[in-house]
Parts: sequence; structure tokens; C-alpha cells
Amino acid sequence: MSAIVLRHGLIVARAGSRLGDVLIRDGVIEQVADQVEAPPGAQEVDAEGCWIGPGLVDLHTHLREPGREQAEDIESGARAGAIGGYTALVAMPNTEPALDNVALVAYVLERGSRTPLDVAVAGAITRGREGQFLAPMAEMAALGVRLFTDDGLGVQDPLVMRRALEYAKPLGVTLAQHCEDEKLANGGSMNEGAVSGRLGLIGRPAVAEEVMVMRDLELVRLTGARMHFLHLSTARSVAMVVAARRMGLPVTCEVTPHHITLDEVSCSNFDPRFKVHPPLRVLSDVAALRQGLRDGTIDAVATDHAPHAPELKDLPFDEAPAGMLGLEHAAALAYEALGSEECSPITFFDVLSRNPARIAQLRQGDRRFGMSGQGGDVVEGESANVVVFDPDSRWRVDRTALQSRSINTPYHGRELLGRVRSTIAKGRLVVDESVLV
Ligand SMILES: [Zn+2]
Repeated sequence: MSAIVLRHGLIVARAGSRLGDVLIRDGVIEQVADQVEAPPGAQEVDAEGCWIGPGLVDLHTHLREPGREQAEDIESGARAGAIGGYTALVAMPNTEPALDNVALVAYVLERGSRTPLDVAVAGAITRGREGQFLAPMAEMAALGVRLFTDDGLGVQDPLVMRRALEYAKPLGVTLAQHCEDEKLANGGSMNEGAVSGRLGLIGRPAVAEEVMVMRDLELVRLTGARMHFLHLSTARSVAMVVAARRMGLPVTCEVTPHHITLDEVSCSNFDPRFKVHPPLRVLSDVAALRQGLRDGTIDAVATDHAPHAPELKDLPFDEAPAGMLGLEHAAALAYEALGSEECSPITFFDVLSRNPARIAQLRQGDRRFGMSGQGGDVVEGESANVVVFDPDSRWRVDRTALQSRSINTPYHGRELLGRVRSTIAKGRLVVDESVLV
């Protein structure tokens, strides 16, 4: 493995950022200094004007393998992640069949270990994600699984959720909930409100999300088990989670790039690329989520990268599957939501790398599947998972130029500010000049 030298970047660290160079060798950050001497044969990366920080960690990636490889597979998803600056992905379990047992989890971990990135797995909470019988979480935890979720659906039955939390607690794992009460969501396809009324579409009201957040906070209070709230989309959901955490409950939460950059009006032209669960909300919710990100009350930005094959996504709005791509433009969208020029690089790496790594328990790495430590500072001795982000680069999203197998991005044609220039994963330069090496 040849050495890599990152030149003249802003090396972002909690203890104080500084301008300088970084030398990476044998999978480790070997030297951080004003100027480092490049060993013979070293690859040089020009980081002038860029931020150098820990590689991004996605808590919420749908890699679609096994079962829906026409939309994405582990390899193509890892390529998309690398372009987006990610050095670790958490693969969600709503595959076909669902990742609800040791054999399938091992399969995904093994396939993931052949990609340049770290691919961790979130196991299912219930068998087949059917919400009825608990999956063998202890066996999956023994394989290193630290997050469990039935994502795509919330666990609807409160007694099943209570038992899941009681089962999870002694395992030291975290349950991650997709908060939507399906009864209240009523089969709707967008946010319930004036726009859905005008379009004649059934709405999924904010309260469908909020009652499940409220219920689960009470179950966390009862059981003491850790919970992570996936893709919160309303001001009230975030306020409840933040208040609960202030009272000492072990809860964390994430928002997606789309809930902080788009609102329900985007659905006005019935374009199914804007259909997502939970749905795009109103502008006041978008503003509240942005504020929560900036002030540190929201822990993480997670993509909910949800590739869909074109023949499915081209259905009428109310019939099309929910979900949109995320990995390749999440960093720029998070940067926009954090205020672009006013964005603090510390906060940027907190919500995209450090906090997600902590929530997914990926700081230490796991040798069994070649996983290195994620979310650490760019300091000597750390695992070489590093991203170089150019906050001044303007670029346009082009769905025909994506690494993902799918093209269902609502941002096609949109000009974004801030772009990942280079990704170094496990000591290897996998993206340079914003293209795969
Ligand atoms: Zn979800």
C-alpha cells in the first residue's frame, strides 16, 4: 500500500483546527504537521482550501442486497458511498429476505469486507420485519451487530417493542426505530396538510410520527434500553427526543439530507422522486431541523439512501415506492443546511462522522470483517479513514453520472455548494478529484 500525503488543508479537530499536511501509511495516520516529507512513490492530494476530517459514517444505507440487486448491491453502494465521502456504511435490513439471522448478516459482512469501505449491518428487530416475533438479536450481536431496526416500518405493537427493548438492553445494542404509526399514516403518500388536500392525495400526518416517538420514549424510560430515532421529520419529534435526553434517557436521533433541504411543496407536480417515508414536511419543520443540527441537539445526518429501479419509481405518485438516493450528495446538502459559509467544520464532522460512529459503535473497528476505527480525529495513530471536503466547490447533480445503480435522486440538475474531493478508506485513496481512483 503506497503512502498518501494530503497537502495544505484545514485539519479539523475538536481540540483546535490547523492548516497543514497529513501523511498516511499502512492504514494509519502517521504524521500531522505543518509540512511533511513525502516518502518515495507517495500519492499526493492537493487539499488547498479544503477541510480534512474523519471519513463520513452513514447510519442508514439501503444496499438492497440480497434480493433487489437491480436497484443496488453492496459493491455499487460502496462506490456511491466513497464518492460521497463515506468510509463506513450501516446496511439496513429491509432486504429480501430481511437480515434477521446470523447467516444473512455474515453474508453481508463478508461481501462488505471486499469493498474498500467498512460495511456494518443493522439487524432486524423482528423475524421477517413482520413486527410479531423477535429475531435472534443475541446471535447477531455476537457477530458484531450493534444496531437493530425493522426500518421501512416501525414496530407497531407496543408489547413487541417493550420486549425488544428488554432483550436488547443486556446485549448492549441499540434499537433504531422508524417512527410512523401505520394506522395514523393511513396509507398516505405525502405530508397531510393543505398541499395534500389540494392535490387530492391521502396524507401521512405529522402525528403518525410523533405518537410513536412519544410511545417509544416512554418505553425507553421503562426499560432503560438505548434507542436511536431514525429520520425524524418534525419539529415536535425532535423537541420530544431532546427533552427526554435532558432528563437522562439514553436516546439519540438523526435527520436526513432531504428533510433538511426540501419541503412538501416539492410534491406538487406528482413527481414520485419526492416521495419518501416519513414524508417531506412543512417549511417550519425544515427550519427546526436545521436549527437542531446547528445547535447540536440533533446527533447525526443519515442518508436513508434508498435506491429504486426506474420501472418501480416511474409509477404514479401514490403507487410508487417511497425513498430516494442520498449517499452521493449528502455532504453538500448537510453543508447547505448547516448554513454553507457559516457552517462550522467541527459541527459538520460531528453530525456526519463522529456522532454516527459513536451511535453505531464503530469507533473501535472489528477485525473479523476487516473493519477499522471510524469517526476519530485526524491525529497521529488513528485509522486512516479520512475525507477531504472542498467547501467552495460548486457542482451540479447529474443522475446519469452517479455510481449508484439507480437514478432516483430528486436533486438532478440542482447546483450544490461543497463537494467531496478525496476519500481515503482504510489507508487507500479511493476517490481523488471527486472521481473514483
Ligand atoms: Zn425508515
